[in-house]
Amino acid sequence: MVMARKVSKSFGALKVLDGIDFTLPKGEVTCLIGRSGSGKSTFLRCVNHLEEINGGEIYVDGSLIGYRRQGNVLYPLSESEIARQRLGIGMVFQRFNLFSHMTAIQNVIEAPVQVLGMNRDEAIERGKKLMTQVGLSDKLDAYPRQLSGGQQQRVAIARALAMNPKLMLFDEPTSALDPELVGEVLEVMRGLAETGMTMLIVTHEMSFAREVADSVAFMDQGKIVEYAPAAEFFGDPKEERTKAFLSRIL
Ligand code: ATP
Ligand code: MG
Repeated sequence: MVMARKVSKSFGALKVLDGIDFTLPKGEVTCLIGRSGSGKSTFLRCVNHLEEINGGEIYVDGSLIGYRRQGNVLYPLSESEIARQRLGIGMVFQRFNLFSHMTAIQNVIEAPVQVLGMNRDEAIERGKKLMTQVGLSDKLDAYPRQLSGGQQQRVAIARALAMNPKLMLFDEPTSALDPELVGEVLEVMRGLAETGMTMLIVTHEMSFAREVADSVAFMDQGKIVEYAPAAEFFGDPKEERTKAFLSRIL
């Protein structure tokens, strides 16, 4: 579902991604972990072209992200073509970014109605199912300010799912939450993984990664240093840098 080849990205003189090779098969969950500043968010943002890469290629579901290839030359896609590619990729950030003047259900149906042109009643029916999936069937008409952080994040997940994405990207979805609210969001993500959704998740929640992820990738200084099935990654890490990281965090 995601294939990255030799992806590089710099901000000025700072090389943030340094030759990332990465494959995420359809239906699998990968957790991306690593120290602050190692390039995790940047890589995630490159996958849906929120950041432009300087070298290499990223494919999502077979489509080259951000470019069209003609022979050996890559031509940038237009804004509308990029927007179309992004439709298939749901993203959930640390901050929930809900529309504050809209109720939960309005947040969920906004893009399907406005962007996909879905019939409003149909969007509401689907939206209700998604709100049930995230455990919030009783909060359809609540405004974001009336919801806890964990509930807002679950609405944000429902809103991303409303676009029927092929791939879901999560960037530290629980790290802005009070500790007692983390579990309910992880529980929703676990359920989503069980439906077979392909997910790439930046997280510091190691027990979640161990239990839910098929594989774990450890990034350091813009490189994927170790990438292995979750049990092997945690049970028998090979690289010194991975061992050092895990010994500090576990
Ligand atoms: P964290 O765990 O703190 O979220 P991260 O692994 O997600 O860290 P990134 O946000 O990808 O790290 O940042 C990688 C490096 O790129 C950092 O040194 C950061 O300062 C730098 N960086 C990120 N975005 C930009 C930008 N827009 N302009 C300049 N530098 C940037
Ligand atoms: Mg980050």
